[in-house]
Amino acid sequence: MTRFWWSERIGPGFTHGYEIELLYEERTPFQKLVVFDNEQWGRGLILDGIVQVTFNDEFIYHEMMVHVPIMARTTPVESALIIGGADGGILRELQKHQQIKRIVQVELDEAVLAACRKYLPEICGDWKDDRVELIIGDGADYVKRAREDGERFDLIILDSTDPIGPAIVLFEPPFHEDLAAILTDTGTIIRQSGLPNTMPKVMPFVMARFQDVLPHVEVYQAPMPTYGGEIAFVAATKDGASISEPRSDFSGRYYNRECHRAAFALPTWWRELIDQYEDDGVVPVEPVSYF
Ligand code: SAM
Repeated sequence: MTRFWWSERIGPGFTHGYEIELLYEERTPFQKLVVFDNEQWGRGLILDGIVQVTFNDEFIYHEMMVHVPIMARTTPVESALIIGGADGGILRELQKHQQIKRIVQVELDEAVLAACRKYLPEICGDWKDDRVELIIGDGADYVKRAREDGERFDLIILDSTDPIGPAIVLFEPPFHEDLAAILTDTGTIIRQSGLPNTMPKVMPFVMARFQDVLPHVEVYQAPMPTYGGEIAFVAATKDGASISEPRSDFSGRYYNRECHRAAFALPTWWRELIDQYEDDGVVPVEPVSYF
């Protein structure tokens, strides 16, 4: 058993320290992967020195990315596309909705999928479900081809890593144009957009890219103790509808109607970040700290 203290760089002069038991590590063709156990957070996954998910609070993130867009729509969500999401938490929450007939997941890194299936099965959804198509590949390539093939999705969830390494292409304008083209008329796109307190440029940058291609863009938030604060989710719709109001009932471990509504109440300083953002079109790449 290998147990030691490890720290995740959160910002200049600031880290999160974990006493971890190392369960597995691998340098994949795309990134450095680590699976660990920690007394406070339970089991977790690290990619390129950034904690992606832990048992302790993953449900908050996954429930808020899935149930908010689905419960806010009056038209049924029948087809969903996941970009990234190797830990399977987004898939798990999507599969709770019987209205969904088709789920396509495009994950770049097979090694991360394999490690999550082996070490984090409690988080994973069911990839054997007949509704699910799992594609190993780059999300930007898939979306480009899907556009050429005339594919359409009611819900697109971008559960990728932050704008570093292999995920940078998912933050660039061509990807957003293709995304908008494969969305149905009543479709919604949701993207995890970082923590404004430590990555203040990511959320307004993501909003600007969606505003380039879709008529309605809004932000909601959820507390993510593992990440060190409130995470921002950017939502965009093609028909201009807001997803801030739940239309029907659903309860999860975190998600419920009141939390849904409350998530769209943003602090003043987030609104200032958005209003004062000078869009130079450059992807706000965060410095990485390798393991
Ligand atoms: N919830 C986590 C977070 O917010 O940081 C993300 C979890 S998930 C593990 C992120 C996944 O995005 C990784 O498995 C990574 O391989 C995948 N990914 C990164 N770039 C990608 C790309 N260009 N296409 C598809 N998947 C990608």
